[in-house]
Amino acid sequence: MSHAHDRLLWIDGRAVKAKGGAWFDTFNPGTGQSICRVAQASSADVDTAVAAARRAFGEWKRMSGVARGRVLRALADKLREHRDELAELETLDGGKPIAETPEADVDSGADCLEYFAGQAASIQGEYQEVDEGFFYTRPEPLGVVGAIGAWNYPLQIACWKSAPALAAGNTIVFKPSELTPLSALRFAELAKEAGVPDGVINVIPGFGDVGQAMTNHPDIDKISLTGGADTGKKVMAASASTLKAVSLELGGKSPLIVFDDADIDNAVSGALMANFFTQGEICTNGTRVFVHESIRETFLERLLDRTKKLKIGAPMAADTDVGAMISESHMQHVLSYIEAGKAAGAKCLIGGAQATVAGCEGGWYVEPTVFDGCSDDMQIVREEIFGPVMSVLSFTDEDEVVTRANDTPFGLAAGLFTRDIERGHRVAADLEAGILWINHYNITPIEMPFGGIKESGIGKENSRRALEHYIRLKSVFVARGAVDAPY
Ligand code: NAD
Repeated sequence: MSHAHDRLLWIDGRAVKAKGGAWFDTFNPGTGQSICRVAQASSADVDTAVAAARRAFGEWKRMSGVARGRVLRALADKLREHRDELAELETLDGGKPIAETPEADVDSGADCLEYFAGQAASIQGEYQEVDEGFFYTRPEPLGVVGAIGAWNYPLQIACWKSAPALAAGNTIVFKPSELTPLSALRFAELAKEAGVPDGVINVIPGFGDVGQAMTNHPDIDKISLTGGADTGKKVMAASASTLKAVSLELGGKSPLIVFDDADIDNAVSGALMANFFTQGEICTNGTRVFVHESIRETFLERLLDRTKKLKIGAPMAADTDVGAMISESHMQHVLSYIEAGKAAGAKCLIGGAQATVAGCEGGWYVEPTVFDGCSDDMQIVREEIFGPVMSVLSFTDEDEVVTRANDTPFGLAAGLFTRDIERGHRVAADLEAGILWINHYNITPIEMPFGGIKESGIGKENSRRALEHYIRLKSVFVARGAVDAPY
């Protein structure tokens, strides 16, 4: 497979060396070993990539929406044709179980491309008669979009950002996370095969300095970031110097509330999906699990029964439920939170330590961990851990739990389990979150707007709403009759 070799930057439809000649290694989290070297972009490469994207913009924006949609549809088909290869690459570079990546990563990316392929033809302006004439509006693309990705869903993020941007007629410079550069590079190659014109998608692996050079770049019109809240604040501040629009998909510390009338088995399924999918490395995770006091014991019993059965293993093994943490330092970060939880007096019911996997001794594994007896002020309850660590809290009153659930600077997602339809909608209305799941958790159909509020972000991905973030409106007034000047 091509990933056994050094990988280069992808600019203007071809693989090129980094101008500075620098390289970095990307690692297999399952074994801790280097996979390959990757060319490391610097600000000089940002300039080249932006120039290529700007040149390509002229042709791409003039194509009809239907024509752009056809190309995006061909790219969606390419992803599906290469489903196994892309899933393996994502598992290799990201440590995610191979049981997850075909659907959660490749299909989700392809679904998004397919959705916006359809939307591309439907971007319309408006027309209105007014005194002295009429006007119409032209929805126009912004120009060159700078997109910066996180490491937890590298291919999905590349697709979720490219699809609406390209559908609307923009071109893109994408910087994948330095921890997971491989799938976005492969995505760009497949885009060329699918007929995406050279320069429309450029991929420049590198570190935070490359992201910074993008946010400061005068010829990038918009930044779309998926990353941590601190990075989001820096990106927004830097974008102010050239008044770039920003879309920010940031972190969270989302609540999952289980009411006393909930279907307990479904609620346990929700809590497991909200905490242990992708080893807990999901921005929307419901890591504060509020359980009504009257069902707490039953809930915990069933939760522990099922958590015990989760298999930590080599990411590439078909029966693995929980794979590897993205890096050694991230593993240490997660373990330090677990120690902080224990020190603060939370009761560790299961897990709570590093795990070793036979044959993968160099890998970075953490046991799925459940803390009970947590209180709202504990560090593990307040801060995003981004690992398989669930905090269980108890409550008795609806108003009380809503207030506690909202007591966080974040507002990405929330979930609730109840059989009471009125309560479901009432609590959904009161929770401060951009995404709300009733009787489910962590499902993200492309048709549904996705994005946070408060310090979890600005803007939406997916759905028709995402297009609004990649379009600007021009109002064109057309006069009828003579100009009645007072001079
Ligand atoms: P991060 O913020 O460390 O890095 C994200 C990206 O920003 C990387 O590509 C990085 O190189 C780049 N970057 C770093 N400093 C920068 C700067 N000053 N200017 C511009 N770019 C810079 O985040 P991460 O560790 O890669 O990802 C984990 C975080 O991402 C978590 O907080 C998680 O919740 C969040 N996340 C959010 C979503 C969402 O959709 N809301 C999805 C996935 C991950």
